This record gives sequence, structure tokens and C-alpha cells, in this order.
Amino acid sequence: MDNTQVAVVGGGVSGLNVARLLTAGGVSFELFEARDRLGGRVLTVDGSGAVSEDGYDLGPSWFWPRLQPGIGGLVEELGIASFPQSSDGDVIFERMSREPAQRYAGIRQEPETMRFVGGSAALVAGLAGKVPHDRVRLSSTVMGLQLGGGGVRLTYRDGSGSERSVNAEYVVAALPPRLLEATIGLAPAVPPQNALLWRGTPTWMAAQAKFFALYDSPFWLGAALSGTAQSMVGPMLEMHDATTQSGGAALFGFVGVGPVERQSMGEQALTDACLAQFARIFGPEAQTPTATILKDWATDPLTATTDDTTSSGHPSSAPSWVNGPWADRLVLAGSEASPHEAGYLAGAIEASALAATDIRRRLDR
Ligand SMILES: Cc1cc2nc3c(=O)[nH]c(=O)nc-3n(C[C@H](O)[C@H](O)[C@H](O)COP(=O)(O)OP(=O)(O)OC[C@H]3O[C@@H](n4cnc5c(N)ncnc54)[C@H](O)[C@@H]3O)c2cc1C
Repeated sequence: MDNTQVAVVGGGVSGLNVARLLTAGGVSFELFEARDRLGGRVLTVDGSGAVSEDGYDLGPSWFWPRLQPGIGGLVEELGIASFPQSSDGDVIFERMSREPAQRYAGIRQEPETMRFVGGSAALVAGLAGKVPHDRVRLSSTVMGLQLGGGGVRLTYRDGSGSERSVNAEYVVAALPPRLLEATIGLAPAVPPQNALLWRGTPTWMAAQAKFFALYDSPFWLGAALSGTAQSMVGPMLEMHDATTQSGGAALFGFVGVGPVERQSMGEQALTDACLAQFARIFGPEAQTPTATILKDWATDPLTATTDDTTSSGHPSSAPSWVNGPWADRLVLAGSEASPHEAGYLAGAIEASALAATDIRRRLDR
């Protein structure tokens, strides 16, 4: 069985940032990621829906460096290029189905909402570039953590389906607390107040779905429309320009139809309804995209649990995430555990930086 100082569970932004900081501190670690790719909720795809380093962000697309200096500084340090969310032009507000949508002059956003050139995958690539590849195990699903022998025995299933174990002095759980509670067995169990807190902490945006329509050109700009729209009619509640810096024209919207209703509607009916809405708002050209992409995060078992279909929302910070026998060995680092930016990319950076500092302090003792 392998031994390591630290086992990091999850290869999203948080897990990768922990790995980057441990690498810089000379700490030995193994990172376990269940998916066959890094990034977690960060998912950038091309027009065919394949994972790409230049495309459309099916997960997060924005950050706010002036409000979130931690991520702003990191983006600069990693040399990742960014650009402002396109907002030049009028915005549309759809209030009721029985009246036409209203058009208003757009207001310049302050502080600016920024996007990554290439998509949010650029942040993942920037972090992964600072981590030795041989410390990262993809397609490795952590199933259980067991305390004992002055450390933790971590059991995981590798890509071939074999069960394997690693001994670690410390474990950093860089995944949503709700997912941790639902899918990874801890022996002994954490105290009930921890289990309740983890389960009760909504995973930010896990109940969401994003719809994209791709076009030959950003035709809405020709009509002096920014691509931004809000709707109380649906199925999308909020729409934006998603055109890439390399010129791939696209609109996207957050689907307002709930996770359960989305399933009963089916993907084709939802796609048709979203396209009809884009056409209502941006004109008939919107009805004939070159491609559409729908990503329903509520059906992704490595992000959402069944609790996310009934209780979603913004996570709140907690004074203590781990108590009892696990307090000495387990640290939570996913974005939801961030004290100030819970749920956001900036939260993943904050929580992971705190976790890495905590681990290094423990190892120094
Ligand atoms: C649709 C959507 C839009 C968003 N928009 C924004 C935005 O514009 N701006 C913003 O700041 N934030 C946004 N967010 C939130 C942002 O995506 C998250 O804050 C951030 O990506 C969280 O990173 P994380 O590493 O903490 O968690 P995750 O990205 O969830 O990473 C957890 C990782 O753990 C892995 N994992 C799970 N279980 C196991 C297991 N048993 N074993 C091993 N690995 C496991 C998962 O596969 C995943 O890779 C959005 C999220 C979504 C879904």
C-alpha cells in the first residue's frame, strides 16, 4: 500500500490549488479525482460538446477581480488572460408572456465582470501546470476514509474498477461537503453536527442547468443588443452573450425550470423552448443555431446529490466543519467551505489556500 503525507480528494479548482500550494511547500501528496478530467464544475467545451481549452463554459464563466482580489491576484500570477463580459448594447426584459419584451439602454457593469480567454478551463490548466502530473490520479473515485495508525487509510476505485488503498497523514476533502457526506464513507462516523452541516450545505449551482446556442456570427450585436436579457416568462431567466475571444458566437441562458421538471420535460422539449425564447428576445435568426448544448448539473452525480434537487441556494460559512476524532486528520477545502466567498471560484481559491496553510502548520508541529 502507498503512503503519502497528504491525500487530496477532488481535482476541481480547490483540489488543484491545494496541490499547487503543497507542491510549492515541498509536501508529498496524491490527488484523487473521480472524473477522467480535471476541473470539476469548471467545464469548457467546443461546439460539439467535447472538453476543450477554448470554448463555452458550461460551469462557471465569470470572476470579479476587484471584489475578489484573491482570485484576481492568482489569475495575474499564473499569467492567465481575461476579458470583460460583453455588455455593450441594449438589454431586454421579458416581464409577461402576454406583452412584448421591453428594450432598455444597457448600463455599464461596475465592477467589471471578467471571463477567461479560452474559457474557465484556462484557470484549471494554469493550476494544473504547477502540479506534478504523476501526483494526480484521474478516474479514481474515493469511497472511504478510515482513521487509524496515526493517519487515514483512504480507499478508492481506480479506472480499471480495482479497489486500492493509500495511507495518508492528512486528508484534504476538496469537494462539496454535501457530496462528501452522501458519497464517501467515514469510519468512525463524524459527529452528527458535522454530518448535518455538510448535508445541509447546498452545493452552489448544483441544481442549475445552462443552455447554449451557437451561431455563425453574433447577429444580436448588429441590432445593438448586448445579448443580455432577463425574463420572468422562461424557460430561461437570465441570458448573456457567450461569444469566445476567438470568435465563436454564442448566447447562453440559465434555465429557470427546476431539476425535477427538466427531467420530465426532456432535453428536446427544453431545447425547443429555449430556442423559441432566444428568437422572441433576439430575433428570428436565433431560431437556427449551428449547434446547441444543454448541461444539467443536477443530473451530474459528481456534483449534485438528490438533496440538491429540493434544497439549493447559497451556502453560508460555518465556524467549524470538522469536529471529534476527525478534527486532527481531515480538512475541508471545497468552495462551499470558504469563509468569505462560499460557492464561487474565488471561494475555491480561498478555502484551498486556508487548507494548505493548515496542513503545513500541522506537518510542522
Ligand atoms: C452552472 C454553474 C455556473 C457557475 N458560475 C460561476 C461563476 O460564474 N463564477 C464563480 O465564481 N463560480 C461559479 N460557479 C461555481 C464554481 O463552479 C465553483 O465554486 C467551483 O468550481 C468549485 O470548485 P471546487 O474545486 O470547490 O469544487 P468542484 O469543482 O465541485 O470539484 C470537486 C471535485 O471533486 C471530484 N469528486 C467528487 N467526488 C469524488 C470522489 N468520491 N472521489 C474523487 N473525486 C471526487 C469531482 O469530480 C470534482 O472534480 C458555477 C457553478 C456552476 C455549476
